[in-house]
Amino acid sequence: MPNIAGSSMKAVTLFMANKAAFFDRDGTLNVDIHYLYRSEDFVWTKDATAAVKYCNDNGYKVIVVTNQSGVARGYYTEEDVQRLHAWMNQELAAENAHIDAFYYCPHHTEGTVAAYKAACGCRKPSPKMVNEACADFQVDKARSFFIGDTASDMQCAANAGICGQLFAGGSLLASVRTAEIKVSGKIGEK
Ligand SMILES: [Zn+2]
Repeated sequence: MPNIAGSSMKAVTLFMANKAAFFDRDGTLNVDIHYLYRSEDFVWTKDATAAVKYCNDNGYKVIVVTNQSGVARGYYTEEDVQRLHAWMNQELAAENAHIDAFYYCPHHTEGTVAAYKAACGCRKPSPKMVNEACADFQVDKARSFFIGDTASDMQCAANAGICGQLFAGGSLLASVRTAEIKVSGKIGEK
């Protein structure tokens, strides 16, 4: 095989770039009960674990991006957030599925906990957490999507330059398939 510098560089780039499935947490992966932090109160949305497994099996990095202002408001701690996320991955492990990473914003301007009362740069719809994940996982944005249940999630996706898919209930797996079709359509247009 001829060793042409240009084409081998391209191969390296393609090898390194990952496609990613970004998910909002509350209202998307789990039923939103507002300021959830206890696993006892956690209920997966329809086909949520199947959606994560589908993404695992189809070569996506699965990344959760969530605003957790409950930390700033003093309703629960960062430790609680991390404990719940570990529990989610335990649940997924039983189905041979996993979330690769969780990015959360614990801040809020109206917080009561001084350390977190801040006009931070990370709270969605800022694209900061998504962009951090893209850097951490060498994400190819053009082949990735972001599924969330709010306008703020869609704004975050737009701000990050990633295809957004609004989840309006029903099967989360169906929503993933719809997002995939949207993404492949956009790539096809280029
Ligand atoms: Zn923040």
